[in-house]
Amino acid sequence: MKKKAIGILLSALCAAFVFTGCGLLPFQEDVPFTKQETPKAEVMPSATPVPEAEPTEEPQQEPVEETSGGGEQNEGSPLEQARLMATQYDYDGAIELLKGQPDYESNSDMQAAVSEFENTKATCVEYPLEQITHVFYHTLIKDTGKAFDGDSDEPGYNQVMTTVDEFNKITQIMYDKGYVLVSPHDMASVNEDGTMTRGRIMLPPGKIPFVLSQDDVSYYHYMDGDGFARRLVLDENGEVKCEYIEDDGSVSVGDYDMVPLIDSFIKEHPDFSYHGRKGILAMTGYNGVLGYRTDIAYKTGENLQPDQKEFLDSHPDFNFDDEVQRATVVAEAMKANGWEFASHTWGHRNATTSSPEELQADNERWEANVAPILGKTDMIIFAFGADIGDWQGYNMDNSKFAYYKSRGYNYYCNVDSNQYWVQITDQYFRQGRRNLDGYRMYYNPEMLSDLFDVSEVWDASRPTPVPPM
Ligand SMILES: [Zn+2]
Repeated sequence: MKKKAIGILLSALCAAFVFTGCGLLPFQEDVPFTKQETPKAEVMPSATPVPEAEPTEEPQQEPVEETSGGGEQNEGSPLEQARLMATQYDYDGAIELLKGQPDYESNSDMQAAVSEFENTKATCVEYPLEQITHVFYHTLIKDTGKAFDGDSDEPGYNQVMTTVDEFNKITQIMYDKGYVLVSPHDMASVNEDGTMTRGRIMLPPGKIPFVLSQDDVSYYHYMDGDGFARRLVLDENGEVKCEYIEDDGSVSVGDYDMVPLIDSFIKEHPDFSYHGRKGILAMTGYNGVLGYRTDIAYKTGENLQPDQKEFLDSHPDFNFDDEVQRATVVAEAMKANGWEFASHTWGHRNATTSSPEELQADNERWEANVAPILGKTDMIIFAFGADIGDWQGYNMDNSKFAYYKSRGYNYYCNVDSNQYWVQITDQYFRQGRRNLDGYRMYYNPEMLSDLFDVSEVWDASRPTPVPPM
């Protein structure tokens, strides 16, 4: 195993770094990795609030057309487009599209569709925002034989990861129960002056909105050879897929992680998505993004961790600019198709225990190295679930909140085991997230019973007992 050669330090580091999970141990001591860095030397504090980050490398090709919502919405005739929009509960958009057609007044099919959409819209009810649940996963396990192979990483994978098989079953069950993917941006919107306004989610009776996110979609070096995808790529149709390295070294392209799995599922079941929404990816930057080694350290060669050095040594043809460009193209395709990105901090920082200065230095790294690829985001999904305030809420006396707010962050997610936990004020949006992983399924199946029955989704290839935290 490659990672065993890297040594004990790395194993210990990985264990602390990721396997404590995003929030499973919210007050986890900070990790050695971030203590070794010298972030302040590299960051340039800016006096300009909330800059719109521009990509440092313009993608040379546009893989997909930009759309206002779901990528599929621009395909087909206006009537087909409108039907898809209505299927995704965007009745106003569908009606407006048809009424804007030059031949609308003479087209009885379009008129009939508009009246059908209006009738369905009239049946919709406003869903209570404070009762919207948010579930999250880590990178999904494609090959359980490799993830659960008895090596030192197995306990962590067993605790905080979910298998592709489990994910597919959960998704189908939630769809069958009426769950519909929405975004925090549907639940609250940001006004020009930085204040926030509550949103309105209108759905047919029986439909249940929920938010979906996935953490650490970096395909970290330590996961190499352990049964996970290598990176996200665009296939020949411009669709986002996973690359997976087979045992013989050949590369398979397919639905091996959440993004392509959800894309495919919604293609088949468009009514699983509200207005074309997909999910949110909570992204660090220290190992790059989406499986691309895009952090500046891979270019400068400075402050490299052993696994980063090993990667560069074993890839003499590595081209940093190409890597950034390819990641940017994938991120653009994802955003055009309904996906969103959040900061998970650059260095997987514990925001509870980090000082305001440390969080500022970390965020400057995110803005410098990650935002140019994924785009500026107004959302933070806290690593370890470690929040910058307690349940009572944030105010400007909280210097961490004041800083993040000044940088344009308005949506904040921690980890909370309650069915739902939502706080919306005129200054920020907060939501708790629930981990759907081995640990929760094994130890607290009753806490997931509103979503699915664990006995119907549990992957029998998991070693039991799942190790306690
Ligand atoms: Zn995380």
